[in-house]
Amino acid sequence: MAAPRILIIGAGPMGLAAAYYAARAGYSVEVLEAGDRPGGMAAHFDFDGLSLERFYHFCCRSDVDTLQLMSDLGMTRPMNWVETRMGYFVDGKLYRFGDPVSLLLFPKLGPVEKVRYGLMAFWSTRRSDWAKLDRISARDWFIGWCGKRVYDKLWRPLFQLKFFEHADRVSAAWVWQRIKRLGNSRKSIFQEELGYIEGGTQSLVDALVRAIEALGGTLRLNAPARHILVEDDAVCGVETADGDVRAADIVISTAPLPYVPDLLARTAPDLAGAYAGFDNVGVVCVIHKLKRRVSANFWVNISDPAIEIPGFVEFSNLRPTGDVIVYVPYYMPAVHPKFAWTDADLADESFAYLQRVNPALTPDDRIASHVGRLRYAQPVCDVGFAARIPDPRTPVSGLYVADTSFYYPEDRGVSESIRFARALVANLGAPG
Ligand SMILES: Cc1cc2nc3c(=O)[nH]c(=O)nc-3n(C[C@H](O)[C@H](O)[C@H](O)COP(=O)(O)OP(=O)(O)OC[C@H]3O[C@@H](n4cnc5c(N)ncnc54)[C@H](O)[C@@H]3O)c2cc1C
Repeated sequence: MAAPRILIIGAGPMGLAAAYYAARAGYSVEVLEAGDRPGGMAAHFDFDGLSLERFYHFCCRSDVDTLQLMSDLGMTRPMNWVETRMGYFVDGKLYRFGDPVSLLLFPKLGPVEKVRYGLMAFWSTRRSDWAKLDRISARDWFIGWCGKRVYDKLWRPLFQLKFFEHADRVSAAWVWQRIKRLGNSRKSIFQEELGYIEGGTQSLVDALVRAIEALGGTLRLNAPARHILVEDDAVCGVETADGDVRAADIVISTAPLPYVPDLLARTAPDLAGAYAGFDNVGVVCVIHKLKRRVSANFWVNISDPAIEIPGFVEFSNLRPTGDVIVYVPYYMPAVHPKFAWTDADLADESFAYLQRVNPALTPDDRIASHVGRLRYAQPVCDVGFAARIPDPRTPVSGLYVADTSFYYPEDRGVSESIRFARALVANLGAPG
């Protein structure tokens, strides 16, 4: 008997990992990817000869599912761990941040605020129960711990410039999980340590694609799914944008949730409605290749009324890339006017911001810039989100739907998508 056929929508880490685990379990697997390359949000591009993620990617010590998958795939390119630093640019000056000593020396907080802040950070790394945090906003949680002044000075600008009109709705559980993930990625209490895969995330994506194909699976690029096909309450395939119909016994959609209502509108309109109303912000990410370092930090948070970005990531302070590489992410809802700015305007503005942080930078230091855009880059996980996450197993037999918000309170991450995919495929059981 032929193996049951699984169609997977999306070749990001979740789709590729699902395809790999399903093919390994004996399913016949095909992946449909709308874009021209696999990797999703973690995909690379060629930056004048340097293979680089379109959006910065680092790994944390807790990314055990990425490490396990790398081992399963027999990858020879290792994970490298690097001691990294964090900075905070506040009102025109750059400070060290993110460890007990820099907190003690940080001049923008009073002694009591420092104790409260330190306790919050420490307790966040130890806590594992998050049910209560799901019921309050990050804003109220921070104010409760550190006071309104600290929230307004340090956190409000970050939230406003990432979530805009959604800023006050974001759940405390989501933020806590981010603090915990980073807070535990340390060599010691004094030293943060982050990882990168040799060759970048592309090494993992390439290894996954090779393994899927070696197990008989196929990956079709430039093949956007347009309709999920349903008959008698059971999924039966997918129609692609060019009208091609691909039959399947099981369909797993890993596309960002805002795309799902359209995929179901024709064939399962009742179910389509269940996926409406999940907000998601986009990102425009400027990448600068420079001759000179901006700072010694991997990332710099920013709280400065004259700078309209929440921070930047100096990636070359993690992965050696030859020239200096700095990512400047502009998160914003895709309807925000800045989303439509030209690449050149965004590159100029973001470089001017970097010059404010390091006035020694001159236009001569600019080698090249690149801009990557994503309409849906960050789910808005609001208060009470846990109860809103749909079951990935839909009422349509054989149809599974998930995206990065399904592993809330964890934030979107490569390792988290891999773990989710592995569990989802394990729940399908053995074929036949
Ligand atoms: C700016 C930024 C920085 C990040 N930094 C990190 C980091 O440092 N560390 C980390 O672990 N994670 C990071 N992430 C998150 C990480 O990239 C994601 O968690 C991960 O890529 C999610 O994988 P996924 O497969 O679940 O979703 P995606 O990567 O979103 O993959 C979904 C895929 O579905 C495809 N698709 C959509 N619609 C269709 C359709 N109709 N038909 C076919 N295909 C379709 C998309 O093209 C995409 O390839 C970052 C993300 C961003 C945006």
